[in-house]
Amino acid sequence: MPARKAASGGAAPQQSGRQRKPPGSQPAKRKVFRGAALRLQATVVLDRLLRAYPHAHCALDFTNAYELLCATILSAQCTDKRVNLVTPALFRRYRDASALASAKPEDVEAIIKSAGFFRSKSKSLIGMAAGLVERHDGAVPADMDALVKLPGVGRKTANVILGNAFGRNDGIVVDTHVTRLSNRLGLTRETDAVKIERDLLTLFPQQHWTMISHLLIEHGRQVCLARTPHCTDCVLADVCPSALV
Ligand code: SF4
Repeated sequence: MPARKAASGGAAPQQSGRQRKPPGSQPAKRKVFRGAALRLQATVVLDRLLRAYPHAHCALDFTNAYELLCATILSAQCTDKRVNLVTPALFRRYRDASALASAKPEDVEAIIKSAGFFRSKSKSLIGMAAGLVERHDGAVPADMDALVKLPGVGRKTANVILGNAFGRNDGIVVDTHVTRLSNRLGLTRETDAVKIERDLLTLFPQQHWTMISHLLIEHGRQVCLARTPHCTDCVLADVCPSALV
């Protein structure tokens, strides 16, 4: 029977309909084109935001890596402004990791209460400090793997510390502003912070990884607000696929 012959290794059946495309044709070309277009978009975004916010920097107040680590843990679900009101008393009372590691949770809670989620944040702060004392002689390690092993410290917090306390461009901080602006500007289609960071790392030169986060956050606070983006006042309006103008 013809059908059985073909199935048991006979001559290959004739292809009918559309021919299969050879490798390296349209989809691959489209991918390359999209990649180049995205890198160009990223270059324009970076240049214009650098000019718009020449003094963009970390909005948390700190004098050393330990203080920045505490402040960043406190900044979860809280404004940087509020954190900056809370940290002076915290740093006066607990000057270093050793002091904080032996703090009573209720004492820390009383100081940080207005920053919200004070019980879990107090636990993270004391646990983080204990981790620094036990594993790093009380010093903050300039290392991603070591940082993310500390209680209350995830990749975002570790990127803040590495970029701003140690001047290392090892990653890009992806917070709510960076997430929103990256999507509105068409730099990513992802919503997960790790995937967004992975996309952004391919688009921006490494020496700007810390700065691009500051720039997007600043633009998100001043112009590209979550509810009502001020597109008519935006320096990126002509290149933004989400522009409402
Ligand atoms: S044009 Fe509008 S949506 Fe796009 S970045 Fe500017 S403010 Fe945001």
